[in-house]
Amino acid sequence: MSIEAAASVVRYQMLVGGRWVDAKSGERFDSISPYSGSVWATMPVAGHADVDAAVEAARSAAPEWSRMLAKDRARILRRFATLIEENADHLGQTETRDNGKLLREMLGQVKSLPDYYNYWAGWADKVTGTVAPLDKPTIFHYILREPVGVVAAIVAWNSPLLLLTWKLAPALALGNTVVAKPSQQATASTIELAKLAAAAGFPDGVINVVTGPGASVGSYLAGHPGINKIAFTGGPDGGREVAHAAADHFTPISLELGGKSPNIVFEDADFETAVTGAMAGIFGASGQTCIAGSRLLVQRSIADRFVERLAERARAIKLGDPTAAETEMGPVCFRAQQEKIKGMVDRAVAAGAVAVVGGRTPDDDPQLAGGFFYLPTILTNVSPEMEIAQDEVFGPVLSVIPFDDEADALRIANASRYGLAAGVWTRDISRAHHMAQALEAGIVWVNTYRAASYAAPWGGVKQSGYGRESSAEAIHEYTRAKSVWVETAREIADPFVVR
Ligand code: NAD
Repeated sequence: MSIEAAASVVRYQMLVGGRWVDAKSGERFDSISPYSGSVWATMPVAGHADVDAAVEAARSAAPEWSRMLAKDRARILRRFATLIEENADHLGQTETRDNGKLLREMLGQVKSLPDYYNYWAGWADKVTGTVAPLDKPTIFHYILREPVGVVAAIVAWNSPLLLLTWKLAPALALGNTVVAKPSQQATASTIELAKLAAAAGFPDGVINVVTGPGASVGSYLAGHPGINKIAFTGGPDGGREVAHAAADHFTPISLELGGKSPNIVFEDADFETAVTGAMAGIFGASGQTCIAGSRLLVQRSIADRFVERLAERARAIKLGDPTAAETEMGPVCFRAQQEKIKGMVDRAVAAGAVAVVGGRTPDDDPQLAGGFFYLPTILTNVSPEMEIAQDEVFGPVLSVIPFDDEADALRIANASRYGLAAGVWTRDISRAHHMAQALEAGIVWVNTYRAASYAAPWGGVKQSGYGRESSAEAIHEYTRAKSVWVETAREIADPFVVR
């Protein structure tokens, strides 16, 4: 790996208790540009003492932050939103540099972040307790909603700031403090975001960032007794390990994990729109999205024609520099991910799948040399039980599976251990609603794909995880109910029986 001109390699630090620090050990790791294959930045590898310090800083900041008037917390969140808006270009460029996704996609995501902070600023002074009419006439009972305390936010590399914001915005608005741990594959944008925290007015220790690998830094953070809630986005293996670590201290946890989402096209769908939807589902972000529509279920009567048209469009996808306006697909994030994709496709082909398009790395294209590219790939002759149809690839690889009718489509779609998202393409309104109800998924899109909003719940079922991000649903992730009982009678009738 070459090192970009040494002077231009950015040297990042971590944010702990309002101070920018290196790891106490001095250890660092390289961040490699997926497009050039060169080192462009270095980051600290946090040790246990660094994580301890970050958790301690978050714990110290928690009482003041949780007691601050909600309208004042909201004002700081709104200022943060404005600063993000003003720095969106820099944040987006940093994300692309780090994870190789298209600049226009990362800019779009970053430009949506202020909406999330403003939305949650709006909630800050509107989350109220309730008075419940109990079956005890003399008791006045009320429920207080309190912040949970210190939140560990551990996120994946594919959309670092969006995934972090889904946790950070509600956690902060509702009075919690945060220790964030970005992915070692795309760390820089989180640090750049944290640089805006002090200017926004967050007190020291409300937002902390520790950096380094999941296996050491993430797992130590997840098992830390000073953490009151873990919000995790990543793969099922990491999620399982985090859940095990959390179990030691019974730490509440929400898990946003992987998927093998079915994109289901019926013969009555608007043909060309459905083709575009299938493309968006799998080739957007080079397939590196948790909700990638990686299984194309297409009704047998239109399957050949559909695949032919999709293949034609896939062949025309322009791969290249993710910062260039004309590029439609960038590289995948890192070498091991490229190799994983290659291995899965090679095994699928060995098992009988046919690569109608792609199926390899573009080694013959000198323009793409050095980058971690994989060609847009469409596989036919895939049966639902094959590895390629069951396991998440996290790359631009589509498995096509024909179906006969609605029942057949549902059977194939639901025969997955995942249940994050699903797409349905049809002009039959009854069928659309029936499918939405019967699909085992946390998110269903009808005649669209890959949409998200601060006001819509996000999360999966089965091995795609549990808990919900965004919308009022997330309030329960970052607050807990306290049940307060006040006796209004002057005496307690019988001290020896439960009341
Ligand atoms: P990953 O699980 O390897 O890592 C995710 C984060 O967890 C990283 O910060 C990593 O350092 C950390 N980590 C890894 N192992 C850990 C451990 N044992 N203890 C604590 N922390 C640990 O996932 P990834 O490769 O970064 O991301 C890709 C995965 O994320 C895919 O499966 C994708 O579907 C999923 N994802 C899900 C969503 C969603 O909303 N459901 C969104 C984006 C990505």
